[in-house]
Amino acid sequence: MFEQNRSESFRSKIIPIFLPHQGCPHHCIFCNQKEVTGTSLVHEPADIYPLIEHYLKTIKHTRKKKSSGFPKSIEVAFYGGNFTGMPQAVQELYLLPAYQAIKERKIDGIRVSTRPDYISEKGLNFLAQYGVRTIEIGVQSLDQKILQKAGRTYSEKQVIEAMHLLHHHQFCIGLHLMVGLPEESDEALCRTVEKVIELAPHFVRIHPTLVIKNTELEKMYRLGNYTPLTLEKTIELCKGLFLQFTKAGITVARIGLQSIPEMEKEGSVIAGPFHPALGELVVSSLAYDRMVNLMAKDGGHGKRVTILVPERELSIFIGQHRQNLHRLQQKYRDTQISIAPDKSLERGKLKCIMIPGTCMERI
Ligand code: SF4
Repeated sequence: MFEQNRSESFRSKIIPIFLPHQGCPHHCIFCNQKEVTGTSLVHEPADIYPLIEHYLKTIKHTRKKKSSGFPKSIEVAFYGGNFTGMPQAVQELYLLPAYQAIKERKIDGIRVSTRPDYISEKGLNFLAQYGVRTIEIGVQSLDQKILQKAGRTYSEKQVIEAMHLLHHHQFCIGLHLMVGLPEESDEALCRTVEKVIELAPHFVRIHPTLVIKNTELEKMYRLGNYTPLTLEKTIELCKGLFLQFTKAGITVARIGLQSIPEMEKEGSVIAGPFHPALGELVVSSLAYDRMVNLMAKDGGHGKRVTILVPERELSIFIGQHRQNLHRLQQKYRDTQISIAPDKSLERGKLKCIMIPGTCMERI
């Protein structure tokens, strides 16, 4: 019933239901689900169906305001814990109301987040029978030393086996990675990315390592045993990851943690590259690089230049607070530069118009 839609399901509209730390006996050094999910409250199974109905009203409302039509696909997502680490009877209690909503055609599927060492043939058969079609697994790194240091107790072999099982059962697979874990070098991150590409998830989420209040990492940080990445370095690393994954045909579904008010509260994030729109900064910085390449190709100095970009991507090219435009103007001081939308341009295309002159280039 769900197979045909699984590979597309990473594009779904999500109804998030947080079950902080449920099914998890572990203590990863960076984890404090209460701060990250903004709640210590664990929803009861009886809450699930009313929650779905509540979210559906919001989705309908926002979709009506933005455009006509209903999102193509809607999934209920159980996040914040280790779903398959809960006893199967408890998993069933949570899945049943969501499955009911699938049968009533109110939603299209269910997704759960879990760890690679909690994936089994039997467990996957059980999930599939209740309409789970997307599984997000927190891998974080594929370097054994880094995993151990982070308090993650599985091996690379377990990750590979879990991925094989997930592919075999045709789930849509999301893999989570972290940048900036203790002892992670650029080379180690690069090796992890290469291995992840071989494992071929349908999408990845890339999270920066943040020092969250009341975690082991906070203690390490306060003792001077951990130095978080700067925001600039994180953006550079994420740009590289974005390009590698995209080139390999793997969707980057998110860069950065989902921004919730609790994380922006004073004292919640102790240190690290927190930014509520990290993904936007990364994509915008990549857009800047592309404009610089285009200008370099055309020898843009001493001219008036208009860079035409796809209409829908205008804000990305201009950057937050017009940052990209300011940077371009600093770099090419003797060139008058503007960035303008062009309806005829497809996504990902750029065009440069020099005035005077007719030099035009598309990249
Ligand atoms: S496995 Fe997940 S929920 Fe459990 S401690 Fe680690 S990050 Fe937190």
